[in-house]
Amino acid sequence: MVVVIGGGCTGLGVAWDLILRGVPVTVVEARELGSGTSGRFHGLLHSGGRYAVTDPVSAKQCRQENEVLRRIAPSAVESVGGYFVSVDDGVESYMRDWIAGTQSAGIPVTEVSVETAIRRLPGLNPRVQRAFAVADAVLKGFELLDLLRVNGERRGVTILTETRVTQVQTVNGQVSGISVRTKDGERRIPCDAVVNAAGPWAGQVAQLFGERVQMELSSGLMLIYSNRMVPSVVNRLAPPGDGDIVVPHGRTVILGTTEVPQVDPEPPEPTRESAEYLQSLGQAMFPEMNRWRILRAFVGVRPLFEGNGVVPQSRVSRDFTVVDHGRQGGLQGAFSVMGGKWTTFRLMGERTADVVVEYLHQSSPSISAHTVLEPDAPREKHSASSTICECERVSEAQLLDQMAEPFDNWRTRTWFAMGPCQGTMCAHRAVSLRMQYTDVEGGLDELTNLRRERERGVRPVAWGTNARELALTEALSCQTLAEGVAHDHLR
Ligand SMILES: Cc1cc2nc3c(=O)[nH]c(=O)nc-3n(C[C@H](O)[C@H](O)[C@H](O)COP(=O)(O)OP(=O)(O)OC[C@H]3O[C@@H](n4cnc5c(N)ncnc54)[C@H](O)[C@@H]3O)c2cc1C
Repeated sequence: MVVVIGGGCTGLGVAWDLILRGVPVTVVEARELGSGTSGRFHGLLHSGGRYAVTDPVSAKQCRQENEVLRRIAPSAVESVGGYFVSVDDGVESYMRDWIAGTQSAGIPVTEVSVETAIRRLPGLNPRVQRAFAVADAVLKGFELLDLLRVNGERRGVTILTETRVTQVQTVNGQVSGISVRTKDGERRIPCDAVVNAAGPWAGQVAQLFGERVQMELSSGLMLIYSNRMVPSVVNRLAPPGDGDIVVPHGRTVILGTTEVPQVDPEPPEPTRESAEYLQSLGQAMFPEMNRWRILRAFVGVRPLFEGNGVVPQSRVSRDFTVVDHGRQGGLQGAFSVMGGKWTTFRLMGERTADVVVEYLHQSSPSISAHTVLEPDAPREKHSASSTICECERVSEAQLLDQMAEPFDNWRTRTWFAMGPCQGTMCAHRAVSLRMQYTDVEGGLDELTNLRRERERGVRPVAWGTNARELALTEALSCQTLAEGVAHDHLR
């Protein structure tokens, strides 16, 4: 049995590829699925255009995986299309390289007239010089994680959440098991191999089996705007930099991102300065963006691998790396997979599973590129129809169907508390529903945690109307619901 450490897209991708080859797998996730970077990304299924000049291998992989994911997970992909638009002077030579790069990576590109681009993308900078349509799409991350969970479990993957790996045990220089900690205590799980798919925490997890892998972490800020102000993905046609992509997502759009080196795998708090900086960059493409209503800011941490003398087993791109530690003279049966993108998670799973099955002396080939991820059957256990979250139109029945899930999964699976009011009007109703139907203790703690988490993202963008709304939110929580809220800063 193989243990995969980390329940983000990489870990679930590895588990999915392994189980399809008949290898028993257990995924161990310290928190909830998608609680790391996989739940904090930009939502873009790359066409490959972004990497056409800087990383041709990655560009080609993105193009291929873009096609694969549309085929195997159509419900998690929204085919909105994308545009690369040039708004800067002096990028002609980059543009030439970009066109050549897309051609050699086989990325379909169609030039559209400036008038067409402006008509299709309301609010686009009228100074746009050229525009190219590509096959960018929206990747619904939480939906795809859920598809991987449902299909994996159906085929026999065991998924343990809120379970932290604390130790990797060995016998004669080979992996023999892991120790995990849950709220109920410590226990041991025997296994033949471990795959470290812990994203930004991969360096820490590698230390559990005595390896030192050096991560090159960087955080990226994103701003979410209320209303779908842009119908398609829009990329700034210039060397990749900060604030150069806008992605429509559900009823919102997301502007991103930045790249700030950091040491800690935990995402830092977004700051007002960085939010203002990012928005000013977005205005190069959409000058009126500063008048769009911002919902919140959030930060993700890129799990890139620095190297540190470790020779990768598979270096199909500079962007992702698979290491067989046993082959490096380290622990037999220990593997790490680092870096990459959401768009290429399946390929990362395939390449990692290739080396794991070889270690296990098996020869079954990967079939994940051709196996459709079937959606879960609709549950419809409950028929109550009153609306709990007005912003995202989440009904009582939808939440009742998720009753056994942790509170945070209600948010990521139904989208409740994600809309304009950010849970102000619905969170207490959801909690009272939970307390009414389950014997879960600590409902008020859940409410407080949700409010804190939502507030973290709202505070950095609390300017103008947003600041007034934050004051209203806090007044409602504090006075109407008698919740304790620190509001000194609003005085
Ligand atoms: C700002 C930003 C924007 C991005 N935008 C895009 C985009 O638009 N398109 C795209 O394709 N890619 C994008 N990416 C890249 C993509 O999001 C990441 O490459 C991907 O999500 C990494 O997933 P992962 O599974 O490797 O890591 P994670 O999702 O972080 O998963 C690692 C998991 O390991 C768990 N873990 C850690 N330690 C332990 C332990 N001891 N025991 C058990 N579990 C443990 C963590 O809790 C975590 O859930 C973006 C990245 C960033 C930072």
